[in-house]
Amino acid sequence: MERPPVVVLGGGVAGLAAAYYLARDGWPVTVVERAAALGGLCGSFQSHGFTLDHGPHKLYSVVPGILDEIRSLLGDRLIEHKKRNRIRLLGRYLDYPLSLGNLLPLLGPRRAARLGLGYAAAVAGGALGRRDPASYEDYVLQRFGRGVYELVFEPLAWKVWGDPRQLSVDLARARIPSSGATELVLRLLKLKENSEDVDAPFFYYPRGGFGEFPARLASEVRRHGGRILTSAVPRAFERANGSVRAVHVESAGASERLACATLVSSIPMASLAQLLQPGDAGLAAEVGQLRLRDLALVYLVLGQERLVDDHWIFFPERRYPFNRLFEQKSMDASLGPPGLTAICCDLTCDEGDAVWAAPDDELVRRCLDALVEAGLTTPDKLRAGFVRRFRSFYPMYTVDYRERLGRIYVRLKQAENLVLTGRVGMFNYNNSDHCLDMGRFIAAGMAAGTSPGEIWSGLEERVRSYRIID
Ligand SMILES: Cc1cc2nc3c(=O)[nH]c(=O)nc-3n(C[C@H](O)[C@H](O)[C@H](O)COP(=O)(O)OP(=O)(O)OC[C@H]3O[C@@H](n4cnc5c(N)ncnc54)[C@H](O)[C@@H]3O)c2cc1C
Repeated sequence: MERPPVVVLGGGVAGLAAAYYLARDGWPVTVVERAAALGGLCGSFQSHGFTLDHGPHKLYSVVPGILDEIRSLLGDRLIEHKKRNRIRLLGRYLDYPLSLGNLLPLLGPRRAARLGLGYAAAVAGGALGRRDPASYEDYVLQRFGRGVYELVFEPLAWKVWGDPRQLSVDLARARIPSSGATELVLRLLKLKENSEDVDAPFFYYPRGGFGEFPARLASEVRRHGGRILTSAVPRAFERANGSVRAVHVESAGASERLACATLVSSIPMASLAQLLQPGDAGLAAEVGQLRLRDLALVYLVLGQERLVDDHWIFFPERRYPFNRLFEQKSMDASLGPPGLTAICCDLTCDEGDAVWAAPDDELVRRCLDALVEAGLTTPDKLRAGFVRRFRSFYPMYTVDYRERLGRIYVRLKQAENLVLTGRVGMFNYNNSDHCLDMGRFIAAGMAAGTSPGEIWSGLEERVRSYRIID
């Protein structure tokens, strides 16, 4: 029997993954992507002779079966890397995850004692049983003590997400998947190995750029008969009996009506709400309260073969403008010309703030100055620099976000054939492996005849278990 049509909004990894699994199962799928290029933040692009990614992207997963899915999709296109990371703290580079051997001499006796006392208090707190943490700050203090919190987690939180006292414990759970001070101490003392669910021992990278991953999903969608529209903007929904029956799309000056029995959305919730309930100021205001931080990626092309030996380096301290430094050639040396290297520095920001509003030249100069200060290069090496800015990419889990999201979901679920997916689509802090898992989950639900609303509810549960593994 012929299956009814599905429309997928957004051609990032989440939209393409959903379309891939659905097309494979025989659903007639159409993907609607607003941009000219597919892949969203997982796409790659060409500039200054390089193939560049949007910051450091690796393929790794602890979600059961997902690494196998990645292997079967990309096969011998995958390069396997043994991960090499460092963190810059107190003027030094330390292996990451941290090890006691290099941390202690760096701290000096007073700081080391404070750190030890903090651990001891956290371990004792754990043994005595403790109240549920109310915020990101609470969670980290309870597990690691004040010393580690102030050294690493507090400055990092301020840089990436904002005030750690205002951030939900869910963010800490997703981002810091260690069970606490006892485990950390054991790992620091090398009495316990890092397990794969806190630290990826290896990862994959698709030969030719991370964008090969969404590109492969897209080619599979087409191979299974799916359609993909790029530079296509969804303008209006046609509603009937509580469902979305068609999406009106504008592309290359022409309009098209796409009938849909099921609508899968991976686009920002604000855009979806506007299409679903145009003119509903209450819904728009509620969605507007869900905060997403913006992203500025500062690229520097330097006249040297390589800058560092790491895949990426964390810079939690506030004196550095960026969160991380990533060297494209560390993933695949063939991604740029000899004698030059391309660096990407990621900065979290908010539209209109000093970073967002700064001219490109100024951001390039600030990042270059920081690299020079960090002893990595010299100013004369700069050959070119540019900035790419992305709105609304970091879901900010404030302490009240869950209740707000719940209220919004109740309103959006009035469209009975709608399912959400993805990072911005579901307001879920995730990686591309999770997006793949969401697509697989949606297709499995549809194959079993589960209603879109129930699939969506299942996903709400599922995304809470996602952990980002560095
Ligand atoms: C610095 C950084 C490092 C990261 N590192 C990793 C990593 O190592 N490994 C990993 O797996 N993940 C990593 N991630 C996360 C990864 O980028 C995301 O999980 C993934 O990109 C989310 O995909 P998505 O499809 O949900 O969203 P997006 O990539 O944002 O895609 C959404 C798509 O929807 C389109 N769209 C928006 N509005 C509309 C509209 N109105 N109509 C039609 N289309 C629309 C957009 O153009 C876009 O193509 C990293 C992210 C960042 C920022």
